[in-house]
Amino acid sequence: MLTASFALLLLAIGGYAALCAIQPFGTCRKCRGIGYRLRRTRTGAVKRGKPCRRCRTHGKRLRIGRRLHQSGRRLHRDGTRTHTRSTDRKETLPWQ
Ligand SMILES: [Zn+2]
Repeated sequence: MLTASFALLLLAIGGYAALCAIQPFGTCRKCRGIGYRLRRTRTGAVKRGKPCRRCRTHGKRLRIGRRLHQSGRRLHRDGTRTHTRSTDRKETLPWQ
């Protein structure tokens, strides 16, 4: 029973990782992809309101899993040594 639930959990995590890899952007939850707030006039008609502050009028947001992946990659890249290429090697200092 425990292994079946564990396998289901692994499947869900793998599916979410695949979703983040295939489609990294999701719809903005605040404006539901419109990019603007909707407001009603006195007559009841729906008009475009202020721009959405969360997605800055894009209507898209980066998924949480993708954001975690990118921050991990950035941390790994900043923490590892850079490989120097022969073309962009720094000039040698006099004491070297
Ligand atoms: Zn938005």
